[in-house]
Amino acid sequence: MEDKLQELKARLLEINDLHSVEALLGWDQSTYMPPGGGAARARQSALLSRLAHERLTDPALGRLLDDLRPYEESLPYDADDAALIRVARREFERAIKVPSAFVAQLSGHTAHMYQRWAEARPANDFGRVRDGLEKTLDLSRQLADYFQPYEHIADPLIDWADYGMKVSVIRPLFGELRHQLVPIVKAITDQPPADDACLRQYFPEKAQWDFAVDVIRRFGYDFDRGRLDKTHHPFMTKFSLGDCRITTRVDEHNLGENLFSVMHEAGHAMYEQGIRMDYEGTPLANGTSAGVHESQSRLWENIVGRSPGFWEYFYPQLQAVFPDQLGAVPQDTFYRAINKVERSLIRTAADEVTYNLHVMIRFDLELALLEGKLAVADLPEAWRARYQADLGIAPPDDKDGCMQDVHWYAGVIGGAFQGYTLGNILAAQFFATACAAHPEIPEEIRQGRFAVLHGWLRENIYQHGSKFTASELIERVTGGPLSIAPYIAYLREKYGALYNLA
Ligand code: ZN
Repeated sequence: MEDKLQELKARLLEINDLHSVEALLGWDQSTYMPPGGGAARARQSALLSRLAHERLTDPALGRLLDDLRPYEESLPYDADDAALIRVARREFERAIKVPSAFVAQLSGHTAHMYQRWAEARPANDFGRVRDGLEKTLDLSRQLADYFQPYEHIADPLIDWADYGMKVSVIRPLFGELRHQLVPIVKAITDQPPADDACLRQYFPEKAQWDFAVDVIRRFGYDFDRGRLDKTHHPFMTKFSLGDCRITTRVDEHNLGENLFSVMHEAGHAMYEQGIRMDYEGTPLANGTSAGVHESQSRLWENIVGRSPGFWEYFYPQLQAVFPDQLGAVPQDTFYRAINKVERSLIRTAADEVTYNLHVMIRFDLELALLEGKLAVADLPEAWRARYQADLGIAPPDDKDGCMQDVHWYAGVIGGAFQGYTLGNILAAQFFATACAAHPEIPEEIRQGRFAVLHGWLRENIYQHGSKFTASELIERVTGGPLSIAPYIAYLREKYGALYNLA
C-alpha cells in the first residue's frame, strides 16, 4: 500500500506541476509578456493543459485509485491520506467523463470566443458574439450531459466550481437573500447619495502602491512567498504554496480601485499561503471551492477593509500619505465615500449591498439559458428587463449589459457566478464565528492588528486546503450549515448606522 500511495503522490505531483507551469505562463501573459508573444503562448498553454489532462485521465491512475480503496476505507474520514485519495478520485472521475475530443473542441471554441468578445465589447456589437454564444450554450449543455443523471442541467457546471452545491439549494437561498436585500437597497437609495468626490482626486501611483502594500503586509500576506504586479484585471495565482502572487491595477484618479483590489486578492492569496505545507503538490493544496475562496477575499476587502474600526487606525496614516488630497476631509466623509451604495450597472464596481443583486441576475439568466427558456438572441433584452426590475436602472447598451463580464465569453455558461454571492454570505458567517471565539478581534482591528483574526482563519479554514468540502468545512467551523442570517445582520448593522435606517 505504501508503494502505491507513493506512486499516486508522484503522479499527482506531475499533474500539479504541469498546471503550475501553465499558471506561470498565464501570469506572465497577463503582466509582462510583450504582445508579440501571444500566438506562441496560446500554443504552449494548450500543450501543458493537454499533457495535464492526459495524465489525469490515464487509466493507470484509475487502477491505482481502485487499488488504494481498501486502504482509504481503513482510515478515518478526516485522515490526510484518506482525503488525498478521495479528492484525487473525485478529480479523476470528473475528468474521465468528458471525452478529450470534447475538451479540445471546447477550449478551441472558448479561446476564439474570448478574442471575439474582446473586439465586440468595446464596439458594443452583440451581433458579433451572438452565434458564438449560441455555440457556447450548446457546448455547455453537452458538457453537463456527460454527467447525467442530474437534478438540474446547471448542477454539474456548478459542482465544478462549488463542489456539492446544487440549483435546488442555491435558488431558495438566493431568493430569500433577494427578498431581504431589496428593501434595504430601496431604503438607502431613497436617500441622497453619499459624496465620494474625495476619492476622485489625483493620487500618484507610487504612494497608492506603497500604502496598499503596507496594509496587506499587516494583514499577514507574506511577501517572501508572493509578490504584487500590475495587470488589466486583478487576479491571484499560485505556482506552489511558496509562491502565491497577486496583481492589481492603479487608477490615479480613483483611490479605491487599487486599494480594495489589493486587499481582495491578498485575501485569496493568504488562504493559499496558509495551506499546510505537507499538502504541497497534491490536490489538497488548493482552496476548497469558489465560494469559500471568495469568502476569504471579501472578508478582508469588505468586512475588515471597509469597516469603521479599520479606518480609525489607518485613516490618519492615509491622510499623512496624501495631506493635500485628504488632509481636510473628515474621517466620516471618507468612510461614507468608500461605502457608497447606489443603483449601478457594473458588477465589479458595485457596493456591498447591491453586489449580490448583480450576481443573482446573472445566475438566473444562466439557468434560463440552460433550461431553454431564454434564447441567446433575447439575452440583451432579458438583461435590461432584469436590471430595470431589480436595480431600477437599465444599461443603455450591451457593452455594459450582457457583454460586461468575461465569464460567458471565456468559458461555459453555468456555474460561474454563484460563488461570488456564496462568498459574501460565508464571509459574514465565518467572521461572526471568529468574533464569537475571540471577542477582542474588532478592538484589534481598531489598533491595526490582525494576528488573532489571521490566526483563527489559518487554524480553522486555510490550513485544510481541499481536505473538507465547503459544506463539511462550514459545518465544522460554524457548527451549522450555510446561513444568510449573519450576512443580513452584518449589512443591517453597518448600513443601518450609515444611513439611519429603522
Ligand atoms: Zn475574488
